[in-house]
Amino acid sequence: MTMRRTGRRSGLLGGWGAAGVLLAAATPSLVGCHTVEGTGRKQLNVLSVEQEVELGRDAYAEVLADPKTLTSGPLVDRVRRVGNALTAAAARRYPASSAGMEWEFVVIDDPTVNAWALPGGKCAVNTGLLAFVDGDDELAIVMGHELAHAIARHGGERMSQTMVASVVAELALGGIDPQGQQLIWQAYGVSVGLPFSRRHESEADELGIFIAAEAGYDPKAAPRLWKRMASQGDRVPEFLSTHPDPDRRAEELEALIPEAESVRQAAAVQGSRP
Ligand SMILES: [Zn+2]
Repeated sequence: MTMRRTGRRSGLLGGWGAAGVLLAAATPSLVGCHTVEGTGRKQLNVLSVEQEVELGRDAYAEVLADPKTLTSGPLVDRVRRVGNALTAAAARRYPASSAGMEWEFVVIDDPTVNAWALPGGKCAVNTGLLAFVDGDDELAIVMGHELAHAIARHGGERMSQTMVASVVAELALGGIDPQGQQLIWQAYGVSVGLPFSRRHESEADELGIFIAAEAGYDPKAAPRLWKRMASQGDRVPEFLSTHPDPDRRAEELEALIPEAESVRQAAAVQGSRP
């Protein structure tokens, strides 16, 4: 995902103040501790779902204003058809986390192989990715992975970690000027095009393959897609710059296939079809 600068960052941090963030960090069980539905992992997240949705909405408004963003036509229809099947599946499988999401899907006319989801559920798929994937099963794997980042609230978690780190840094440095603060933000990577951590990527892979399977898509498309991305030689897709270790991911996804396949079959019995 590529997170754009919205100019809201300092406002958000300033609005809470150092004391509030520290309090949240010091008492995670009361304020900032959240459990990721589906994996049971505990995360620090001082943002509410509503705050994440609002941040996503701001960034999405910029995306919609870009003339390269397509909001109608056959490509958008395809992405929305797959997206709607996935969000319905996510609502069945991860109902609590899906409840606050405001899903929306657009296509960006950009040849780079990429897709992203903002916190709160606004998603985009590049025309380059649509051209790269071999059928809707592979598209569903990438989109399921991106949806999973939003559902598992990885953006909010990362912002929370950064806020805590910057408050600690501020205290350690005895107060810093705005320029210094900006450097710290950059150092902690809340900046343009930052990859998620390895742990977030594995978690999105895991939740994503189950969402795709629940929606009726073939989970075997997951390792196949990663292997194909890795074998592009000079034309390595941009998606891999924020999603490294394709071979390792393919292996981990391979191990999840039997369970994902039974999820798919159980869903098919209940009438779920892509
Ligand atoms: Zn990812």
